[in-house]
Amino acid sequence: MTTKLHKSETKTNVHQSGSSIKNLVTAGIKMAKKTVADIDVKGKKVLMRCDFNVPLDENSNITSDDRIVKALPTIKSILDRGGSLILMSHLGRPKGRKDEKLSLAPVAKRLSELLLKEVIITDDCIGDETKAKAQALKPGDCMLLENLRFHKEETIKDKAAKEDAQLRQAKDDFAKQLAEMADIYVDDAFGTAHRDNASMYTVPQVMEGKPRVIGFLIEKELKYLGDMLSAPEKPFVAILGGAKVSDKIGVIENLLDKVDRIIIGGAMAYTFLKGMGKSIGNSLCENDFIDKALQLLDQAAEVGCEVMLPVDHRVVRELKQGASHRIAVGDIDSGWQAVDIGPSTAKKFASKITDAKTIVWNGPMGIFEMPPFDEGTKTVALAVAEATDNGARSIIGGGDSASAVEKLDVQEKISHISTGGGASLEFLEGKKFKAIDILDEK
Ligand code: ADP
Ligand code: MG
Repeated sequence: MTTKLHKSETKTNVHQSGSSIKNLVTAGIKMAKKTVADIDVKGKKVLMRCDFNVPLDENSNITSDDRIVKALPTIKSILDRGGSLILMSHLGRPKGRKDEKLSLAPVAKRLSELLLKEVIITDDCIGDETKAKAQALKPGDCMLLENLRFHKEETIKDKAAKEDAQLRQAKDDFAKQLAEMADIYVDDAFGTAHRDNASMYTVPQVMEGKPRVIGFLIEKELKYLGDMLSAPEKPFVAILGGAKVSDKIGVIENLLDKVDRIIIGGAMAYTFLKGMGKSIGNSLCENDFIDKALQLLDQAAEVGCEVMLPVDHRVVRELKQGASHRIAVGDIDSGWQAVDIGPSTAKKFASKITDAKTIVWNGPMGIFEMPPFDEGTKTVALAVAEATDNGARSIIGGGDSASAVEKLDVQEKISHISTGGGASLEFLEGKKFKAIDILDEK
């Protein structure tokens, strides 16, 4: 259904949304950051923040080395030019204590296989022993510090530190110990770029005066996401789905007056549909956000952004693998739950995607993990692939959306799949990344 609502009584705030766009555009232009290619690393100790937060099985085996592979270009560039590399990352949520299960040792092992050279892992990310090991590194040597989050100081937020001098001191001391091992700081961890963790934000603060640059992975993310938002070729279509509308409000608000069309699927569609007076049965709905959803529809109508919502739905009585399912057109009977957009919706959505020149997609159209409830997501993915074939620039942000596209095997046909789940969402919300902001400009 295409909603072009008239301006109603609901209070809208289009100006506010417009100004956040302006900030973002400014941010996009400002994002000509110095990269690791711009600096001389020969004979220097380079401290590099990576996102090695890889998925592990119950025996701590890495189930996907994607994040390690994606860091290789920056790592190789530094080692090949005679830099000594001190890599650091977090893994999981060890809550500030050493937890062998969350050791980065398997990452060091995999990295060493990929680089065909030894990668030393330290027992601790800071301390005298680690410092001595860092000092002993020769040009071309590579060392990985043990999980940063074995120290609670890593995740102290600046907001908390502002109100508590002891926390401030603890975070600063931790950052100083990391910083003093190196001459150069490199950030290539886009997945955590929206956070103000000690290794992301305090370390570069402490290293002021020394080169502080981004790696190739972040450079690529900023290029795709930044260019898309600051200079999109039209028509510009946003496809939003996933579990919760509350997670995506900021994204919708920020994109509203940028895009020509917003396509809404997934569970979040049902909060909108309920607000519009439809029966949604047992489909997921965030009742507290119905008003907000309606307000967003109003805002969209005011700025002339077309919003499309599902007109039919694949529904089940019981959510389980192999559940029997049927298609509900329009309203959903009580006792039934929507698990995917229906075939007419999928077709309609696809026809509104294939002519796009810029596409941003966040959030699957249904419970794609449980085929056949991946049909809607598949149709949309194929439409995005077709548009890309026809010259559109397509970008996928969000962890589950990225896995959906990979599962459906169309990842090669997408221009850019962002490696940052939360980070790409915050970028799409137009938020400023202070951890990147602080790094050197070109
Ligand atoms: P992303 O990680 O790409 O930002 P989200 O985390 O917002 O995406 O949403 C992904 C989740 O939404 C998936 O686990 C998927 O099963 C779920 N989902 C999508 N559609 C529905 C639906 N109709 N009902 C319940 N869950 C859904
Ligand atoms: Mg998710």
